[in-house]
Amino acid sequence: MELVRTIESVRQSVAAARAEAKSIGFVPTMGALHAGHVSLIEEAVRRCDFVVVSIFVNPTQFGPGEDFDKYPSDLEGDMSICEQAGVDLVFAPGASEMYHEANITWVDVEKLTLNLCGRLRPGHFRGVTTVCAKLFNMVSPDVAFFGQKDAQQAIVIKRMAGDLNMPLQIVVCPTVREPDGLAVSSRNKYLSAQERKDAALLSTALAECEKQVGGGQRNCEALIESMHKIISRSSKAQIEYISIVNPETLADIDVIQGAALVALAVKIGSTRLIDNIFVGLDKQ
Ligand code: AMP
Repeated sequence: MELVRTIESVRQSVAAARAEAKSIGFVPTMGALHAGHVSLIEEAVRRCDFVVVSIFVNPTQFGPGEDFDKYPSDLEGDMSICEQAGVDLVFAPGASEMYHEANITWVDVEKLTLNLCGRLRPGHFRGVTTVCAKLFNMVSPDVAFFGQKDAQQAIVIKRMAGDLNMPLQIVVCPTVREPDGLAVSSRNKYLSAQERKDAALLSTALAECEKQVGGGQRNCEALIESMHKIISRSSKAQIEYISIVNPETLADIDVIQGAALVALAVKIGSTRLIDNIFVGLDKQ
């Protein structure tokens, strides 16, 4: 496994793999790798001949007052996780390699970024789509792997790739969870012991929603209300949103008819957590 820091060297290594007719799989990450990232890497290793993982904490997707400055990082640990998982190339560029000071070009996906996290984190998805477009241009993968955990991100990236005719396939992998249901996240490290316990209420609420939909409840207001109640059991929880949306448009829906995305963002103490599930007949 190789570690490279520059765009030129990532291009050279990928070109050498291509010259051997290898297919290129790509897993973009912000590092502090965990079981969720590993599941993406393992899927990439299964499907592709040459697997690239990028590690870059992207400043343009963090808003003022968010956790950019304290975002966890552990390159040494990440390298050994990648090595064990069968990665061929780790691309860990510095900020100046990724962005020129004079950068004035952005990729902005409209409409799909207006609701859910996009509504509460203005500019976040513009940062995500811009860095992914840049990384796709640097790595030129055949397939890129994203997690269902960040459902809106995966939908927005798919749309960007389609709208801009990017020659790659986007694969979305299931959310990896802790035994109590909490979605694995780099940010779980910030939680105190009590907060960590309370954080399991997010997946409890989603599971309850799934159960109620299975039992015939289709009214979104009632479903959201019962999720609210469950999460409000924690005195540390501040709910940012609990929404049920059309999985194609990401617009709020009132009544579930077919597949729907149930998504939520909750601050537990000062740590912002997100989670989601699909419900409905055409479950994806
Ligand atoms: P991040 O490093 O947080 O930017 O995440 C990199 C990729 O890993 C994104 O595509 C995430 O959706 C994905 N990911 C993060 N957590 C999980 C998880 N618990 N299960 C599956 N994928 C995940």
